[in-house]
Amino acid sequence: METLRQRLTALEGKGYKAYKCLEGSYRFPGFTLRIDHVQGDPYADASRIRVQLTAASAALEQVDLHTMRRRIALEDFLGRAVAGAIDRRVKGRRGTGRSGQITIAGYGQQILVRNAVLVTNEGIEVRMRCALPADGRSIRAHDAAEMLLQELPAVVADALVLNHLPLDNLNAHLDCAEDQGALRDWLEHEGLVAFVADGALLPRRSGVDDRPLEESAIPFRSPETLRRSVTLPHAGQITGMGVPTGVTLIVGGGFHGKSTLLRALERGVYDHIPGDGRERVASLPDAVKIRAEDGRAVASVDISPFINHLPFGRDTQRFTTDNASGSTSQAANIVEALSCGCRLMLVDEDTSATNFMIRDRRMQALVSREKEPITPLVQRVRELYDNLGVSSVIVMGGTGEFFAVADTVVMMDHYQPSDVSAPAKDLAGDEWHRREAPTTPPLGTGGRRCVSEALPQALGAIRQIEQSRLKIQARGRRLLRCGDAEIDLAQVEQFVDDGQLLAVGFLLQRLAQSSACGAIDIVHDAETLLAEAARQGLDQLTPYVQGELALPRLYELLAAINRLRNLQVEAPRDAGSA
Ligand code: ADP
Ligand code: MG
Repeated sequence: METLRQRLTALEGKGYKAYKCLEGSYRFPGFTLRIDHVQGDPYADASRIRVQLTAASAALEQVDLHTMRRRIALEDFLGRAVAGAIDRRVKGRRGTGRSGQITIAGYGQQILVRNAVLVTNEGIEVRMRCALPADGRSIRAHDAAEMLLQELPAVVADALVLNHLPLDNLNAHLDCAEDQGALRDWLEHEGLVAFVADGALLPRRSGVDDRPLEESAIPFRSPETLRRSVTLPHAGQITGMGVPTGVTLIVGGGFHGKSTLLRALERGVYDHIPGDGRERVASLPDAVKIRAEDGRAVASVDISPFINHLPFGRDTQRFTTDNASGSTSQAANIVEALSCGCRLMLVDEDTSATNFMIRDRRMQALVSREKEPITPLVQRVRELYDNLGVSSVIVMGGTGEFFAVADTVVMMDHYQPSDVSAPAKDLAGDEWHRREAPTTPPLGTGGRRCVSEALPQALGAIRQIEQSRLKIQARGRRLLRCGDAEIDLAQVEQFVDDGQLLAVGFLLQRLAQSSACGAIDIVHDAETLLAEAARQGLDQLTPYVQGELALPRLYELLAAINRLRNLQVEAPRDAGSA
């Protein structure tokens, strides 16, 4: 600490580059500070620093960390505690550019595997950024000393010494995460695809604010007929709506809470923090939101089970386009989801192409089958479950066409669900599309897709730039940049954190490197890489230590690959689509 003080004193008024001499590691009372990388100027990405505490100085013995989930939840809790302490203790901007700020990765409503905070038996390590202050290009050493020698130790004392933290809240956080894991395991065991607890609060503040709606949120109450009860390790017995396997419809008038329920199920693949309102909402971990996404790129996907006889004989068995339509993009999204093991599709009428969902009797009479390239989802959704075991939850307020193929129908009325399966079945009678078999080829699991040497090409710069310098950036949750390549992920709705996009960027780089030595099997290789990252940590993906990554799911990683423009895909190796 004294060494750092002396170095800082010597820097007053010097040119910014002189900050470089700070790189190194310093002993503080109770922790070690490592300054890993000093930024080149006050506008550049802020300097990377790490704080390390031993298990003893962090008082780690205060918590029970016997499961992986608890450890991840503790890392999450500590990261949030650091963010709070920064807010209280750090003055923030002083000087040019970002001067004076200390930051940690941004935390949302979910508990994700991240690398901002790592907890091991040895102790705690936290990664932050520190924007070393300057006026123009001249160093403000006095402010830097205030940040590193006063503010930072105060943040560490507040947030990383467990004795100083509200231990009840901390334990509740860990218990809550563990309960959510147990709830998801229970789903599998009970043959359910999703669960929404009585009392859950589903609505959010706004489309861009994932925090719970503050006032006037009406708590969820399960219909009697669908109510299930489950005993969780910490919360004990809870009750709520169990969504069974098969085809489930959510119906009801406009603005009655249908999409809100579906969105909660989409996010139910993740653990949520206590107080979120959705901490007892769970879906199967491989549930995938399926939507229309016109404009997306599609590379060699067999959409023929849904779309055939396109004008001018366009190939739909290896459908490739830079600009898909609503229906072709939705078909590609389903086929891709199936190829990576999706067992639950979540579909909302609001984000679907109508002609992809249904074709009613009148339209059948007017436009003959030969002229209509689309076999709508209503004709395939039963088969998806009966033959492939893939369930779906579909929001459909505008038409009763799906009644005949649904196992369960839930009606939302003033944000309250009721079970209307029986009347819906009566209304469907012996509807036509139960009998009318589709003439298009049956659905398969898509086969494994192989990528040729085109992946590195799609990632443009990778051949020219040495691996450690490929620039990977995430623009919010919408856009991922890897070198020259840009991937539009705005419509991949189950990305919840920009750290996941960054991790996807580094994972793509890995895949690109391995594909340079020949074709790779995308699904298999992506799965292996992710399993490795989950086991060994996210750090192994990056050339230097940085704490901004969060683990994505397999589906989101593949979604990014599938949206790379210029991707070249070889025909599936096995007869998967037959
Ligand atoms: P739908 O899809 O049926 O048209 P939405 O799910 O979009 O309806 O919900 C309409 C509005 O009602 C949204 O602004 C949403 O935030 C709000 N909302 C949904 N569920 C609840 C609830 N349980 N309590 C209070 N407001 C809700
Ligand atoms: Mg809606």
